[in-house]
Amino acid sequence: MISKSTIDRITETARVEDVVGEFVHLKKRGVNLLGLCPFHNEKTPSFNVNPARNIYKCFGCGKAGNAVTFLMEHEHYTYPDALRSLAKKYNIEIEEENQTPEQAAIRDEKESMLLVNAFAQKYFSDNLFDRPEGKSIALPYFKERGFTEATIKKFQLGYSLDEWNAFSDAILKNGYAEEFLVKTGLSIAKDKSLSPPIGGRGGEGLFDRFKGRVMFPIHNLAGRVIAFGGRILKKDEKTAKYLNSPESEVYHKSKVLYGIYFAKNGIVQQDNCYLVEGYTDVISLHQAGIENVVASSGTALTTEQIRLIARYTKNVTVLYDADPAGIKASLRGIDMILEEGLNVKVVLFPQGEDPDSFSKNHSSSEVQQFLKTNAKDFIVFKTSLLVEEVKDDPVKKALLIRDVVESIAKIPDPIIRSTYTKKCSALLDIQEQILIAELNKIRRSQLKKQTDREEAESIPLDLLPVYQPLADEDAEHQEREIVRLLLIFANHDLHFVDIIQTEEGKPVHTGSAGEVKETTIKVSRFILNELEKDGIVIENILYQKVFTEIFSLIQQQELLDQQYFIHHTDAEIANLAISLISSPYLLSDNWATMHRIAVPSEEFVLNSAVKGSINAIKIRSVMKLLKENRDKIKDEYQSGKEIGSLLETQQQLEKVKMELSKELGIDVLK
Ligand code: ATP
Ligand code: MN
Repeated sequence: MISKSTIDRITETARVEDVVGEFVHLKKRGVNLLGLCPFHNEKTPSFNVNPARNIYKCFGCGKAGNAVTFLMEHEHYTYPDALRSLAKKYNIEIEEENQTPEQAAIRDEKESMLLVNAFAQKYFSDNLFDRPEGKSIALPYFKERGFTEATIKKFQLGYSLDEWNAFSDAILKNGYAEEFLVKTGLSIAKDKSLSPPIGGRGGEGLFDRFKGRVMFPIHNLAGRVIAFGGRILKKDEKTAKYLNSPESEVYHKSKVLYGIYFAKNGIVQQDNCYLVEGYTDVISLHQAGIENVVASSGTALTTEQIRLIARYTKNVTVLYDADPAGIKASLRGIDMILEEGLNVKVVLFPQGEDPDSFSKNHSSSEVQQFLKTNAKDFIVFKTSLLVEEVKDDPVKKALLIRDVVESIAKIPDPIIRSTYTKKCSALLDIQEQILIAELNKIRRSQLKKQTDREEAESIPLDLLPVYQPLADEDAEHQEREIVRLLLIFANHDLHFVDIIQTEEGKPVHTGSAGEVKETTIKVSRFILNELEKDGIVIENILYQKVFTEIFSLIQQQELLDQQYFIHHTDAEIANLAISLISSPYLLSDNWATMHRIAVPSEEFVLNSAVKGSINAIKIRSVMKLLKENRDKIKDEYQSGKEIGSLLETQQQLEKVKMELSKELGIDVLK
């Protein structure tokens, strides 16, 4: 069984438009999305998806439901399978379990708390409209603030009487359990060790948290009351102006936005969300006809809150007071919103005004006009904040640029980032290239902060060179040269002088007695050893034939007879042998002209020629391995696999290549 909390997470996260959109082509129609109904045959679309309510409905056939039921109907999934498929889609971990009595109790507990909150909301509203204290003090307060009765009713505002336990008494008399009054935070237990619960009788042990405050209920997405904010009526220095419900099973501050229930349709409709500071701002703007507004009330803006907005729109306009605290809060908020990939605008209110007071002092159309004309791009906003100060101070200007670029660096989309660097370049009169360089620097250091593994894997791909394998004809030429050397010089001796390193690591050359070792080896044996050692195969079929045959002959008789190849029964081999052996090519002449050096002795040149040819063919083989390994790294990296050992291989191959090139270089230069 999938746990209740998992189901909640799935249904809270799954977006009907995402899920339906995988099967039905949806087009935006006002607040909603419209498409051809997948459940019946139709030519004109009547299948309606409502993202704000997270449901679909077909006005043709009447089928309606949510993301889960859509999958059950359309994909013929069972209920658990539909949930599992959504969990997979949204990366939600499924808790599988049989619900224990405790879990069932938590579920019941949440429901009980919501019922308590619902009772409280109604009770506080009744106080406001029906009881003398409310009517004489609280209702006039709201009216004084400029709230109309319709607004007060819409937001279900209320009043908690100025008595120690009026609310607690009333709700207990109505049969609600004391336990949930304390858990919702509406009542506070005088004696913390209140057990067993008194239940039902008198409220001697409880007092009202919100005594004497006007009440702002906080609603969840479904419109149920999950918490309250309460404001004092009098100017009182001693108690906090606003008091909020404590964190609880039903109220997680960091995940809640005040006003979201009332705003979500407007947000979708306007494709923009206004973000304000508190209850009164939300309510006043609503009254001014601006309904797409929410508040992060009581807490600093959180990522979870931004993601909640992102369900409905990608555009956020932050409204803040012009005081330093307001600006500071807005700057922090901007970066967080950018980081979530949303677009940010900012409206700064005139000194001493906030959205609430501004709405109170201006007409609806003035408020709307003000927001429209004062919404600034976050870059314009950030620069305009400081541009006066910065004017003649290059250091301050540099700091401002850095600050703005830091914000741009938070934007996940590279295309949007580049539009902002352009804008910033024009605004601050600075070359875009400089901004881009700075931006890249910041993004690199941000990347560095991620785990080591990610870093190790993300960097080499860019830094690894792209390897060009040798062209086929060059490769063939190399192989031909080896075969040629074999045919002509197989029986020659090569003399090698091993150079022994001294303790200080300096090479000691021939002549220093005791530190030099001389070896003699036949060309044929040397070539065979070298190629075998590194597992190099001759690829050209004809050369390979000759090559293999040479070696089987050598194994038998050690000395190679050129005549055997010149008169080979395989005409192709015979022709090759003839052309290689009879070529006018003279080793020493060739080397002399190629390198414009005096050739000290034929034997020395032969040494170099053989070693050089072998090295060249080895380098070719290493290059091929490097390229293959690099391709593998790219593939594995892209499919998210561990590439550590492949990188090591690449490093070792690189080392071999370096050594070979060095040797080749030395040989040629000698
Ligand atoms: P005043 O009449 O003195 O202006 P106010 O009720 O308008 O008081 P402000 O101090 O102006 O409140 O605060 C601005 C906004 O911030 C209000 O919408 C308020 O709801 C909200 N706010 C202030 N303090 C808190 C708090 N502790 N918790 C939640 N919201 C708060
Ligand atoms: Mn105020």
